[in-house]
Amino acid sequence: MSERRIVLHYPRTLIDQPIVSTLVKKFDLTVNILRASILPDQEGVMVVGLEGTEENVEKGVAWVEEQGVRVQALSVDVVRDDEVCTQCGHCIVVCPTGALRIDDHESQYVIFDTDECIACELCVAACPPRAMKVRL
Ligand code: SF4
Ligand code: SF4
Repeated sequence: MSERRIVLHYPRTLIDQPIVSTLVKKFDLTVNILRASILPDQEGVMVVGLEGTEENVEKGVAWVEEQGVRVQALSVDVVRDDEVCTQCGHCIVVCPTGALRIDDHESQYVIFDTDECIACELCVAACPPRAMKVRL
């Protein structure tokens, strides 16, 4: 048996499609949904753990990609360089999980809660001074 954690980015047109149930039925996989969000532009982001035989996991991931879903391995880590962060707040609106959020409304301090981060990388492009980075 094999387990793989991945991030699925699926467009608005696929949000209503039974992707998860098809993975279960067609490829005999156990799908653990670890986190799921719909982004403001209506893209869906779902972090899942797939369990099954290595062959079925491979086939299931290939099938998902054929449906138009972008599959990202969850092996990367997103980090913030606090010395570069200007506390501008641009990242808050793109973060689907609330990992980047205002901690204290009085100080307006933007915190980065790594426990909530799904490494979707959306903040990396949104951060003007490039404080958010992918650590491979
Ligand atoms: S990678 Fe950035 S945008 Fe994505 S969940 Fe983590 S902090 Fe939020
Ligand atoms: S967008 Fe970048 S610089 Fe601005 S608060 Fe977020 S991490 Fe800091």
